[in-house]
This record gives sequence, C-alpha cells and structure tokens, in this order.
Amino acid sequence: MEKLVSLCQRRGFIFPSSDIYGGLSACWDYGPVGVELKRNVKEAWWRASVQDRDDMVGLDTAILMNPRVWEASGHVTAFSDPLVECKGCHQRFRADDLPPEAEGRCPSCGGEFTEPQQFNLMFKTFMGPVEDAASVVYLRPETAQGIFVNFANVLNTSRKRLPFGIAQVGKSFRNEITTGNFIFRSREFEQMEIEYFVRPGSDDEWFAYWVKERLGWYAGLGIRPENLRLRQHTEDELAHYSRCCSDIEYNFPMGWAELEGIANRADYDLKQHMEYSGKGLTYLDEETNKHIIPYVIEPSAGVDRTVLAILCDAYDEEPDKDEIRVLFHFHPDIAPVKVAVLPLSRKENLAAFARDVYASLRPCFATQYDDTQSIGRRYRRQDELGTPYCVTVDFQSLEDNMATIRERDTMNQIRVPVPALAATLQNKLAGEDIFVLPEGGVIWKEETKGG
Ligand code: ATP
Repeated sequence: MEKLVSLCQRRGFIFPSSDIYGGLSACWDYGPVGVELKRNVKEAWWRASVQDRDDMVGLDTAILMNPRVWEASGHVTAFSDPLVECKGCHQRFRADDLPPEAEGRCPSCGGEFTEPQQFNLMFKTFMGPVEDAASVVYLRPETAQGIFVNFANVLNTSRKRLPFGIAQVGKSFRNEITTGNFIFRSREFEQMEIEYFVRPGSDDEWFAYWVKERLGWYAGLGIRPENLRLRQHTEDELAHYSRCCSDIEYNFPMGWAELEGIANRADYDLKQHMEYSGKGLTYLDEETNKHIIPYVIEPSAGVDRTVLAILCDAYDEEPDKDEIRVLFHFHPDIAPVKVAVLPLSRKENLAAFARDVYASLRPCFATQYDDTQSIGRRYRRQDELGTPYCVTVDFQSLEDNMATIRERDTMNQIRVPVPALAATLQNKLAGEDIFVLPEGGVIWKEETKGG
C-alpha cells in the first residue's frame, strides 16, 4: 500500500487534501491523472446502470437536505459507531474495529478505555446566518435518501413501471472515527447507488439478480475474479430494516474488505418517508389496481474504493534488464490516458510532424504528448500511468509516413502508416492482438523493441 500511495502522489493520481498545509485527515484530492481514472469509473458505472438499460433513470440530488429526511431515515438516532477513549493518551477509537492483538486496550499506549458511547457519524453545519438548533443541517452520509424522497417525482415524470430503478453518483460525508488505508475510508467520498424498486414477493429474485450483475461489473473493469468475493451478512450484522445483505469484497493489501453492499431494504424507506412527510409514496399496481409500497434492492458502491481496488489490482513490478519496471495494467476502458505520442527528438521538423499526429489522435482518445527526457524514461513514465499504447515518431517517419505503436503489457511494437493509426489504436484498445497488422503495417525489429 505504501508503494501505491507514493506512486499515486508522484504521478499525479492522488494527493493529500490541502497538502501545503499538512493535509487534512482522511480527505484526498485527485490529481490530473486520478481525476481521469475516477471519471472513467463513474462513467462506466453510469453507462452500465443507466444508459444501457430501459428500466433505470438517473438523478443528481442536493447534498444538503431537509433535516427531517435524516430523522425519517433513522440516521439522526442510529447512524453511529461505538466510540471509546483511552484514559491514558486520550486517543479515540471505534470499539468494534480494534485490532484483536490490542486485547481491548489502547493500541497506542496500552491504556484502559472508557465505556463505549454512541458517536453519530453525520457532519453538522448551519443553514443561513443564525447558528442555532433550528438551523442545523447535515452533509448527507449517503446518496440513497435523495432517491427515496424523489420517488414520486420520478414516477410521475418518467412514467416507469415496476420493476425499475433510480441511480445516483455523488459525494457523501461521514465523520468516521477510525480512518486510514489511503482512500479506502475517508471522511469525504463518493458513492454510486441504485435503488431498484420491485413488487413485494419478487425481491429475493431481484436481490440475486443484482448480486450477479454487480459482481460482473467489477470483473468487466478488469479486476481479477480471484480478488473478488461475496460475503453474506449474518443475522446479527443486519440492520433492522434489512431483509438480507451481501457485501462484494476485494482482496486489498490490508485484507478482504467491502467494496459494495447490496441490501434488500424491503419497504422500510418509502414507509418511513410517508410517515414523516405525510405524502403518498405508493405505486398504483396496474395488474390489481391497488396501491402498493414497492420493495427496494440497493446496490451501494464506493467510487473511491473501486478506484483503490483497480489501482491495487493493476499494479505490477517486473524485472527489466537491471531495473524494475513498474506499471499499471489498467483495462483500456478505464485507463486515464489511452495513447501517448512520443517524438524521438525535439528537432523542429520532427516535432511538427509529431504534433500533427497528436492532433489527429486527440479527438479520438485521451492522448498525451510527451517530448521530455529519453525515450526509455518516457516509456517508463507512461507505464506508471498505465497508458496502454505509446506512439513513437522518428526521423524515418518523415520519409515513410509511418509510426511505431508500442504495447504497454508486452512491450511489443508494430509500425503502421500514420493514416491508419487512429483506426489501428481503436482496434487495439478494443482488445485486438498487437500483431494483427493494418494494410502496410509491419512488426517492428526486435533490437529496437522495449525502449
Ligand atoms: P464500512 O462497513 O466499511 O464502514 P458501510 O457498510 O458503512 O462501510 P455503506 O453504508 O454500505 O458502507 O456504504 C456503501 C459503500 O460506500 C461502501 O461499500 C463503500 O464502498 C462506500 N463507503 C462507505 N463509507 C466510506 C468511507 N468512509 N470512505 C470511502 N468509501 C466509503
């Protein structure tokens, strides 16, 4: 994990928040490369969850909501973790998350703990110019409630029929007691949540459907199946409203931990909001002509944890001559940079040629232009960014109008006519073998390979 954190900082994936002021505990900033990776993850999720489906619509609701929402949802009274304080060094810990080897004593100084107290994880602030109890609002600790309170709005405007779902991606905030493991547990993070409404009685079937669907989504991002597993919650872990819940877990460097929770929440949320708001949140069943309260299946994923899983899964070190080559084997769909254009020299005539190649590729892919340092260093840098293909132009390119494509994972190279570059790269990014050549293309010489 330490290697990953330092590489992420060095290459512009992720920085500590407000770094020049010493950072802020459990808050992170995504750099120029990290933001692309994160956007690709969110876009892949949105495409799979909303755009590719007839039975889903999206929403983007406000982070600040009427505080009654959090009373109805149970967060004001029950969204808390047991907090203990060390009587010696006064550090605070989550009582249910202490390392077993600490044997119930302070992991820092071995001191005795106070009795556990429930600590509410919601961040509070004030709305308007007066800071009193009546103006308290919360930063949302999940995006889900924005979906439930809009159930009738969506139903009335989209005319969806059961079963259908509503999806949302957005920031959530939790004043976590124990944080750590890089972006795994932070105080400000992003979630990708689906509330999928179904007829009561069909909920078990839909629960199984979503578990399979969501596991498949992670595998489709290139995460190795052996690093993913499903863990069903035991009876005593289940929230009181939850009929069943399974976590999709990833084998992180610190061990197996939750990537996504999938819960059958029955009709708990809609019922609560009906009671607290006095508004009807029922569904007129066209089959029976009766009003019913749908059940809901909730696949709730974390953007940052998905990014972390992808980083861990794609990270690799391999021996390369006398050195170690460090690279990310990102799936091309989520790689932050798809193609890098590297002129062999900065000489004016070659630079102009390379710039033209770059301009022709940039509208098609996330493309970088890099003309600093030796070609070998530049290949290594692109490997560390996980760029699937590098395009090199050299002085011979000026004569034969050909450029070299170098594949990240194998370091194999082919030489193709510049007019065929975009289409060839498109095919390679879609999974075509590097040695499938376009017309006029050749396999590049062994001795110049590797860079
Ligand atoms: P945990 O048990 O790890 O605290 P949780 O069960 O409280 O997680 P949920 O409330 O089910 O988490 O939230 C859904 C998803 O949101 C989680 O699976 C995770 O991916 C993400 N998530 C929750 N809390 C955090 C956090 N503090 N930092 C980053 N991601 C988070």
